[in-house]
Amino acid sequence: MKWSWKIGTFAGIGVYLHATFLLLLAWIGLSHWIDYRNFGLAMIGVLFLLAIFSCVLLHEFGHALMARRFGIETKDITLLPIGGVARLERLPEKPGQELLVALAGPAVNVVIACLLGIYLLLTGHFEPIRQIGLTHGEFLERVLFANLFLAGFNLIPAFPMDGGRVLRALLARRMEYPRATRIAANTGQGLALCFGFLGLFTNPFLIFIALFVWIGAGQEAAAAQAKSVFENLSVRDVMIGQFQTLSPSDRISRATSLVLGGWQQDFPVVDRERLVGMLLRSDMLMALSNGDLNSSVGQIMRRDFPVATPEEAIQPVFGRFHDAEVTTMPVVDNGRLTGLVTLENLAENLVVYSALKAARVHGVGAARAVNVPLKANYRTLEGQ
Ligand code: ZN
Repeated sequence: MKWSWKIGTFAGIGVYLHATFLLLLAWIGLSHWIDYRNFGLAMIGVLFLLAIFSCVLLHEFGHALMARRFGIETKDITLLPIGGVARLERLPEKPGQELLVALAGPAVNVVIACLLGIYLLLTGHFEPIRQIGLTHGEFLERVLFANLFLAGFNLIPAFPMDGGRVLRALLARRMEYPRATRIAANTGQGLALCFGFLGLFTNPFLIFIALFVWIGAGQEAAAAQAKSVFENLSVRDVMIGQFQTLSPSDRISRATSLVLGGWQQDFPVVDRERLVGMLLRSDMLMALSNGDLNSSVGQIMRRDFPVATPEEAIQPVFGRFHDAEVTTMPVVDNGRLTGLVTLENLAENLVVYSALKAARVHGVGAARAVNVPLKANYRTLEGQ
């Protein structure tokens, strides 16, 4: 994720902190300072937030380590102001496994709450609940209740909460996966509307949560649809066969005229029938703004770029797009350049194949003949 800093590697999984998270810390410290004019209280506010996010991190590790038991690795875990995101390399195939992976996160918070409860009872520090608030009361007891809230909120049976995955896993035992996803996603969006409506009259923060839930539920539904549509297709079925290439000795001016005169944004660079680089539109614009009109393509092309093969499945290609932050990937067969895949074209394919699937017509040729523009966010495809 952009604007994230690595804070360490635990159990072989990189943990990142998003820049906006530091803003949240600063905001909490500052608002406590303004309210109480007391450095100690401001520090306790910041410490409380850090304690909560350590619990969020442990929650994500609950998902990640349970997934590892089923042979699924986690690429990384990022802490955002709205919570954590564990990027699993794929979703569990069996509903039973998905159920356990989804439950493992909230279970961690329940365990933390129980341990804190036992400690507070044994040491006689348990205060009556009505004396406890977000900003006052026994520190550890507040952490305890925050963990109960984390477990409870995440178990709401709607996407994108963990409870949505639990619901889908249960529904998927008796119906098709995409339909189960749609129900869990619709529940999520219905819930978001309720949150938003309530937020208008009560706490504006609810509107913010509603927005997050609405977008998350929509992404989850789109990802499940893409998964079911692309399941039986390979890269060959969706790649573009007609495209322009450049040679390393070409001037940038040739690349710019190709961009202006056609649909292509990025260009494979070929030297004696061998793929040697990729010229990205962004790099080309950078060179142009530096006044490098006479540079050759070979000077600014990228030599390190992801490639796809014609026979591979489409799902893993999405991950490579995301990791390398590119939108075009060359398709290489035995060292020969045979096609291009672009995110935009994949989105078009998704629309067309969805329509064909809905009409129960299956045919690659028919799909290629239609052209429907659509921009979609494919980052959701990697699952969380
Ligand atoms: Zn979770």
